Amino acid sequence: MDPKQEQAIKLLQERGLRVTAQRRAVLHLFLAEPSLHLTAAEVLARIHEHAPEMSRATVYKALDDERKAGLLDEHTDPNGVRLYGLDLEEHDHFICERCGRWYDVPATGRPKPPDCRVNAGKVERVEVFYFGLCNACCASAGSVDRMLT
Ligand SMILES: [Zn+2]
Ligand SMILES: [Zn+2]
Repeated sequence: MDPKQEQAIKLLQERGLRVTAQRRAVLHLFLAEPSLHLTAAEVLARIHEHAPEMSRATVYKALDDERKAGLLDEHTDPNGVRLYGLDLEEHDHFICERCGRWYDVPATGRPKPPDCRVNAGKVERVEVFYFGLCNACCASAGSVDRMLT
């Protein structure tokens, strides 16, 4: 069996989730491309490429179950779109302002909660978002520049 399939089964079992075809398909999609962040509709479209018989409701339910179990994270992007990604390790996000893709980056740039004071209350968790131009967009911007000169 594909090692990513085995990993998906193991992760589901570790988190106490029954292994269903939908849960396995959803988790496998993210394990195969760990930096991927997709909307629920995009997840469904990708799964339908291989398993068109899976219903929208069961795939969406699998996404929600895996989010609750801490396998996936869910964020709302600046346009109000909800995105899901793998959440096996603590991470922050880099958002490309040209293509809108989200990338996971190591959570090394976070201030430690005890160091940061806010006047509204006690900080228990800090998340960092980076904005910029992703490597793929930088490469294509470079080629456009070359074409123009
Ligand atoms: Zn993420
Ligand atoms: Zn980009």
